Amino acid sequence: MLARIARMSEQTWDGTRVIISLHDQTAAKKVDQMRGDFIANASHELKTPLASLMGFIETLKGPAKDDPEAQQRFLNIMQDQSERMSHLVSDLLSLSRIELLEHTPPTGVTDLNIIITKITEGLHTQIQNKQITIRKDLSPDLQDSIPVLGDAESLTQLFQNLLENAIKYGHKGTTVTIRCKAYGPGSQGMRRLGRPSVAIAIIDQGDGIPREHIPRLTERFYRVDAARSRELGGTGLGLAIVKHIVNRHRGVLTIDSEVGRGSTFTVYLPKAAVSEMNLPAWESSNLA
Ligand code: ADP
Repeated sequence: MLARIARMSEQTWDGTRVIISLHDQTAAKKVDQMRGDFIANASHELKTPLASLMGFIETLKGPAKDDPEAQQRFLNIMQDQSERMSHLVSDLLSLSRIELLEHTPPTGVTDLNIIITKITEGLHTQIQNKQITIRKDLSPDLQDSIPVLGDAESLTQLFQNLLENAIKYGHKGTTVTIRCKAYGPGSQGMRRLGRPSVAIAIIDQGDGIPREHIPRLTERFYRVDAARSRELGGTGLGLAIVKHIVNRHRGVLTIDSEVGRGSTFTVYLPKAAVSEMNLPAWESSNLA
């Protein structure tokens, strides 16, 4: 196919355009391949719980018809499978929404302190079940607020995904630390974004991730241990969503990990001035 395009190109175009055309064709082929893989993966992920649901429906209609104890057990499994499908569909929708928005940088200013507090409150049950301690380690200049250039809804999703993972993959009874540091002009941290920024690190004490997996973690459906991820209710899309949100905010994500000790996911976001911060609607209405 490529050879045919090259021959056609030689007759009609100059050398530069031939190269551009070949490059475009290769990139287009790669995008098609990725799209195909994505659809195949998404279908497979949906098909597994669906097949299980259909199997249990047959069993409930037949062999388990007169066995209330078995019925209860199967209904619980069916509930888990339905929840899994529902998480997957909502992650797929989030991913496609975020991908559409990726080239439109957000314009608002958001206080990450408020967002992180709300997320940890929402994760109260998971935190309690695993006896995890959440520790906030904020540099002195960020004690009152953490103003960043960004959109509250997608930043909530970003840190929700990272904190859920830290709790999910963290060992029972350990600590998850949220460390925030600001980098102003002249500081080493300015290098990352080339402008004043805030680094938010989510540090867990868990399984850790073998080094060879780290570069692929933000690919859709990439998991270190697929069975374990599914058992913990994972969809394999959380970090892909994180990556797209970080890109949209012109930020940077770094991942450091040590097997058996834990992982650190650090997000660098553009810092805003406190004076640029708009009070969220719910907070302004409280003032009235
Ligand atoms: P999942 O829904 O499977 O958690 P993610 O996209 O959020 O999907 O993460 C991809 C994979 O990266 C996970 O399946 C897991 O193997 C690994 N991973 C993510 N976060 C952590 C963490 N904090 N500790 C260890 N492994 C992690």
